[in-house]
Amino acid sequence: AVTPKSHYRIASIPADGIGQEVIGAAIEVVNALAKTLQTFTIEFEHLPWGTSYYKGHGRYIPEGALDTLRSFDAGLFGSVGAPDVPDHISLWGLLLAIRGPLQLYANVRPVRTFPGTHSPLKTIDERGVDWMIIRENSEGEYAGQGGRSHLGQAWETATEVAIFTRIGIERIMRFAFETAQSRPAKRLTVVTKSNSMRNGMVLWDEVALEVSKDFPDVQWDKMLVDAMTVRMIAKPYSIDTIVGTNLHMDIISDMAAALAGSIGIAPSSNLDPTRKNPSLFEPVHGSAFDITGKGVANPIAAIWSAAEMLRWLRASEAADKLMASIERVCQSGTLTPDLGGNATTTDVVDAIINDIYQFY
Ligand code: ATP
Ligand code: MG
Repeated sequence: AVTPKSHYRIASIPADGIGQEVIGAAIEVVNALAKTLQTFTIEFEHLPWGTSYYKGHGRYIPEGALDTLRSFDAGLFGSVGAPDVPDHISLWGLLLAIRGPLQLYANVRPVRTFPGTHSPLKTIDERGVDWMIIRENSEGEYAGQGGRSHLGQAWETATEVAIFTRIGIERIMRFAFETAQSRPAKRLTVVTKSNSMRNGMVLWDEVALEVSKDFPDVQWDKMLVDAMTVRMIAKPYSIDTIVGTNLHMDIISDMAAALAGSIGIAPSSNLDPTRKNPSLFEPVHGSAFDITGKGVANPIAAIWSAAEMLRWLRASEAADKLMASIERVCQSGTLTPDLGGNATTTDVVDAIINDIYQFY
């Protein structure tokens, strides 16, 4: 056997609903991959944060949680949210309480059509898509600034202030150009709404132009977000890497996941590109209580997120192999109901593990 090159310590935070099921699935698959490849070793430590923790302790994460996280190489997160807790409390209690302080300012969401799966986009262009969506994750429309006055009056007023800083825009723009540059197509689309939002969005346009000068080999263009939704459907193959604000990419990436097939396969990475803090990897989907406990949650979004985690930890060969296994299993027709099949979570996990044992 080859001597392991690296050892990784991962914080596992399955949290709520199907998060428990899909993170368990991802850990099983990654352990099988590590055992087979023997190019790395990995250990997962379970952190019991989430809504049951909140019900017992009055808070979603314990005091010192950020320091706990900082002792790991990365985190693998499931989903947060429960039917009996308002979404803004659970979201700010766990995910946003981590993203902000750890400066995980780049949210990266790859979108790809897999062989053997149905995708509305394949009917428009049979080549399918391979997009890389980059969402600014630390400021903008979700800065939480604003307030309400004249409560209950007809003239009650609420303001929701979007905050954009040159530093915030420049660092995400640079990350986006670097990402585009690292991909075969070397193409980037900067998405804004600078016709109707004349401050923050115009600053985005200016910074994009400045940063682009450092990347002469990247072919880039600008697009208004409304026009972008049309282009994603009418000319999907013309798009490669996309960058935009917190709100715009939140919406665009959910739509993209549905266009590619199912939200059940969509992965995401919350990255600190400076690598000072551990990054956090999570499926795009939420806790989906309608299917929790039924054993039919698609584990691919979580497993693909784990592959992105391995790639970020520089185990990119292992990540590529895991992705190849996922694609072969989809091609073979082992699909959960969200992808039109009748396989269970366990069926998919077993098929991927068998594929790993067979091919590697
Ligand atoms: P949250 O409030 O945390 O966003 P949610 O209950 O709204 O969670 P979403 O993740 O937004 O759920 O998903 C919407 C629907 O898509 C779910 O109700 C579920 O039916 C389906 N879905 C989501 N994730 C998966 C998955 N991994 N496998 C199968 N179906 C899924
Ligand atoms: Mg939801």
